[in-house]
Order: sequence, then structure tokens, then C-alpha cells
Amino acid sequence: MNVQVIDGSAIAKEVRGDLKNRAKDLLEQGVKPGLAVIIVGDDPASSIYVRYKVKACEEVGIHSEVHRFPENASQDEVQRCIIDLNDNQHIHGILVQLPLPKHFSSHAITTSIAVEKDVDAFHFYNIGALVTGNSTFLPCTPYGVLKMLAKHHIPIEGQHAVVVGRSNIVGKPMALMLLEKGATVTICSSKTRDLASHTRSADILVVATGRPKMITADMVKTGATVIDVGINRLSDGKLVGDVDFAAVKEKVAFITPVPGGVGPMTIAMLLCNTIESAERMQSANT
Ligand code: NDP
Repeated sequence: MNVQVIDGSAIAKEVRGDLKNRAKDLLEQGVKPGLAVIIVGDDPASSIYVRYKVKACEEVGIHSEVHRFPENASQDEVQRCIIDLNDNQHIHGILVQLPLPKHFSSHAITTSIAVEKDVDAFHFYNIGALVTGNSTFLPCTPYGVLKMLAKHHIPIEGQHAVVVGRSNIVGKPMALMLLEKGATVTICSSKTRDLASHTRSADILVVATGRPKMITADMVKTGATVIDVGINRLSDGKLVGDVDFAAVKEKVAFITPVPGGVGPMTIAMLLCNTIESAERMQSANT
């Protein structure tokens, strides 16, 4: 099979190039787009993700600010910060880096964010808007996946899409977005019986489980498109996805690598949502 490896880093670079121009246009109208990131605790992976986000903002011309709280901060303290940011006219996007410490309610925190600044689209208002096909913000990771499919002209309508994973931030919104685009969608989880019987019938297979290399070549259809959302660090320090890339790529038409696949797209779409938010607020003010 002649496989095409979908280069997420290259597509993300293109998206950032376009966003840079949009940020410049906004600046000419006196608006510098702004993103606020809240991080609680000292989870090393979260700190790395926040660093990537800040660097990407700088590159595109988005003002970014990081609000750090210690592990033992109270939910009240963090919510007060969010409320201030909701009222801050220089901030167009607010995100809270997950996971939060155990004594926090992620639901209470994400629903404190003003819906029009909810660039991660985790607020239940924005999830409801997605369900009814009226979304203002699309969740960044599935949004990035759709961009990658579009870039390679991979059809969605009428295709059988199988999403492995049903989290609120990846699996469920991914399934809804594919459904909205006309795919017939199957959602699988750890409770699914005979997972391979589902994955093998997928024209488009999206995997987001956090289980290293769990999708093997015998679990995919010849000629399928395989999107690997998983990011797993092995004990030797190597990063791998949820798909056994080396074996699966011999059988499929399109596949995303890890790293360099969905990860860079997620950050690019976060920047995209922030610029969109700034553009919306600017046009509402003129
Ligand atoms: P969660 O842990 O919240 O969800 C994992 C999902 O996978 C659950 O629904 C779980 O099922 C399902 N699952 C676990 N094991 C199996 C199995 N053996 N068979 C079928 N389903 C299974 O993870 P996230 O959705 O937050 O993230 C998933 C992966 O994606 C992680 O590796 C994460 O690091 C990565 N990620 C990558 C991003 C990127 O930008 N590339 C962005 C966000 C996440 P159940 O519900 O039954 O427990």
C-alpha cells in the first residue's frame, strides 16, 4: 500500500502563517489578540504544554499570560482569577490547563470561563452548541484532526468513522464533529466487546486512548485513514502514539505520526480559536 504520512507539523505551520496575517490585521485595528493560560500545580507534562502554547502565541503575534497557582490553591482563588480575566478586554481566550488537582471540580472551573472566551470549548454551553451544530468554538484536538483530513481531501461524508476513546475533550467531540460532517460513527471505549471487529470496518479510524501502540496492523482495514491522537512516553523516554505506526503504515492509505501529527495541530487550532474570538469581539465593537 502506498501510504501518505500526514505531516501535522507542516500543516500547523501553514495554519500559523495564516493566523499571523490575521493577528497583524487586528493589530492594525488597534487590537492585540490575548490568551490567558491558568496552570495549577507542578505537573511536568502540563508545564511543557503551557510552554509550547506560550511560544506558539509569540510566533503568531498573540499576547499570552500565564497565571500559576500552587498545588494547594483553593478552587475559589482560581475562579476569582477567571472572573477577572472574563472582564479583561485585552484577553480574548482563557484556558485552564488540565488535569487539575484532585480537590478541584474541573466542571466548576471550566464553566466559570465566559463562553465567548472559552477557546478550549470545554464549557458545557459550547459542548451543547457543538451537539446542535451551532458551535462558536470547536475543541482544538478534533478541530485539528478535521483540518488534517481536509488538507488531504479525505472524504468524510458517507464514510464509516470509528473513534476509540470517549473522553469529553477528544473522543466525544471528535465523534460529534465527524457525525456533523456526514460520517456514520461508531464510538468505542474500554467497555467495547471485540474492539478489532469495529476498528477493522473503519474507513477513518481515530484513536485517543493513551494506551501505547494498542492498535495493531490486524486491527485496521487496508486503505483506511488512521489518526493517532495518543501521546505516550515509554520508560526509555521515547514518545509513541496509541497506534503501532511501523506496522500499521504498511497497510493504510493515510496515517499520522507521533510526534509530529495531531499534537502540533491542537496548538495551532487553539491559536485559531483565540484569533477568531478577537475578531468576533472587534467586529461586535465596531
Ligand atoms: P482519557 O483517559 O480521558 O480517555 C481515554 C479513553 O480511552 C477512555 O474513553 C477509555 O475508555 C478509552 N480506552 C482506554 N483503554 C481502552 C481500550 N483498551 N480499548 C478501548 N478504549 C480504551 O484520555 P484523553 O481522551 O484525554 O486522551 C487520550 C490520549 O490522547 C492520551 O494519550 C492523551 O495524552 C492524548 N491527547 C493528545 C492530544 C494531542 O494534542 N495530540 C490532546 C489531548 C489528548 P473508558 O471511558 O471506558 O475508560
